[in-house]
Amino acid sequence: MSDYFQEMGWQELADGETPNHFLHMARLLRDYNMFEELGQNQRLAPPASKQVVENLPNKVISNKDATCPVCLKSHEINDTVKELPCKHLYHPECIMPWLAKTNSCPLCRYEFPTDDETYEAYRKEKIRAKQREEDISNLHNSMFS
Ligand SMILES: [Zn+2]
Ligand SMILES: [Zn+2]
Repeated sequence: MSDYFQEMGWQELADGETPNHFLHMARLLRDYNMFEELGQNQRLAPPASKQVVENLPNKVISNKDATCPVCLKSHEINDTVKELPCKHLYHPECIMPWLAKTNSCPLCRYEFPTDDETYEAYRKEKIRAKQREEDISNLHNSMFS
């Protein structure tokens, strides 16, 4: 007499059904903040994308109220400074070395794209996870309020 599983045509684990270790790893990295735990040097986000930095617009100062957040000196009228997408104004010599080290505005943490593929994948996964949480809480609110 053949056993029950053979009769049903079932197999223990088909080849295509092995757990996907890559996805599993990505989830671990996200859920347990393992990316941050990898070490002190990894804690600082990678440099801003070179292309983005090269294309930062110049702005000529027309209003003396603005100060450079790095050196805290006021910008003088007719000074040419770099304008970040977050609208913060920096001396080129103040912001360029910073963006060569990490990818965010020192003042408001606005994040630039980077040239680091691993970091970009991690960041996208983090944004997706946040989006999912928001979707779930919106759904929850619409059901229970
Ligand atoms: Zn400065
Ligand atoms: Zn900023």
